[in-house]
Amino acid sequence: MSKVIAVTGASSGIGEATALRLAADGHHVVLGARREDRLAAVAEKIRAEGGSADVRRLDVTDRQAVAAFVEAAVAAHGRLDVLVGNAGVMPLSRLDALLVDEWDRMIDVNVKGLLHGIAAALPVFQRQGGGHFVTVASIAAHQVSPTAAVYAATKHAAWAISEGLRQESDPSIRVTTISPGVTESELADSITDPVAKDAMVTYRAHTIPAGAIADAIAYAVAQPDGVDVNEMIIRPTRQR
Ligand code: NDP
Repeated sequence: MSKVIAVTGASSGIGEATALRLAADGHHVVLGARREDRLAAVAEKIRAEGGSADVRRLDVTDRQAVAAFVEAAVAAHGRLDVLVGNAGVMPLSRLDALLVDEWDRMIDVNVKGLLHGIAAALPVFQRQGGGHFVTVASIAAHQVSPTAAVYAATKHAAWAISEGLRQESDPSIRVTTISPGVTESELADSITDPVAKDAMVTYRAHTIPAGAIADAIAYAVAQPDGVDVNEMIIRPTRQR
């Protein structure tokens, strides 16, 4: 069955790959992120391959904007079936570098941005009698390493929020947490700290394609209504 699926952070990396994969599966995708030119290019690619997509500029740190993003999808298509909460940033650094503004940004995007999506879509799913939250957390929801204290904290939070949502939700609502390992994307571009940047060269030497994460999300979405894929961890075989 064709679904209406909104994806935050759809302008690059995992969000882009997820939008392309879900559109190829016959779903209508609604793409949100700040870089409108990149969103337009993704939508163009989807349409060129016979799929259907809408785009809307979205900053997930703005609660009203996230509400408007979800409302626009419902207004245009009559419903929203899946919200993929994927938008995220990862400006890693040691705590003693005191890059406090970057800590704030990770908390604002990775935690508050995710909560804004839940606040916008949960009433829609309850009203419709169904829906599916897919949250892109991280392997950093399961482990902590130097330079990743704050990032890992935001991803532990994303994991906890998603698991709490699952436990509280009506059985008509499905909740999936996706935890990728090192995946090809633009994520490490947001690192400004030289120590963390250096460490990433080794850490990110072996990656899996963003399409591998998109495939996992597509699998969770494709399950019958009564089947909830709660969590998947997908990482390179070479990642320990
Ligand atoms: P990218 O940097 O390629 O993509 C991040 C996406 O988030 C972009 O589309 C970006 O769009 C969007 N984004 C960032 N800030 C905002 C904002 N304020 N409002 C709306 N959108 C925003 O990296 P990934 O694809 O890797 O990241 C996707 C998710 O996957 C993140 O949550 C990340 O933490 C997670 N992840 C990634 C891993 C990896 O190795 N790649 C491993 C584990 C988890 P724009 O800048 O246009 O707004």
